[in-house]
Amino acid sequence: MYNHEPTEYRCPFCEYIRRDDTPRAPVGSIVHQAGLATAFLAKSRFSRIPVNVLVVPNDHVENLYDLDARYAADLHRMTRAIALALKGVYGCDGVSTRQHNEPAGLQDVWHYHVHVTPRFPGDRLYAMQFTDFPKAERAREAALLRAWIADQAAHVLQDA
Ligand SMILES: [Zn+2]
Repeated sequence: MYNHEPTEYRCPFCEYIRRDDTPRAPVGSIVHQAGLATAFLAKSRFSRIPVNVLVVPNDHVENLYDLDARYAADLHRMTRAIALALKGVYGCDGVSTRQHNEPAGLQDVWHYHVHVTPRFPGDRLYAMQFTDFPKAERAREAALLRAWIADQAAHVLQDA
């Protein structure tokens, strides 16, 4: 419903999910995969914020309108785990999530995704430039987040 994906669209997020390890979806950027959800580091980030993590359903669903509720629990568990990992690794004072639908909502990849972003006091996030995040740096930061999640898995990936 209300779809904007062009015909024969080659989805970059599905490449992450399949772990294709393409130039635009390097496997080293993947932070975690569990259940119906995958988290990876976006190829861009806000200039003074260490990472921007994207959480996606493991099936190609364009937007919120099309997303079946059966994905909700796994997307939430992943988003929560990423938020706690951002706190643990970067010591951020807060975390923001954002999710965009349709061009008017600034959606530009046609696969539902939630941005999970570390926040700092007075960071003026939305005034920052969105800049390229080189593959090697992304791999380094993703490894830090993977290690934190592996160490804390019993606490952050399960419900109390
Ligand atoms: Zn996709």
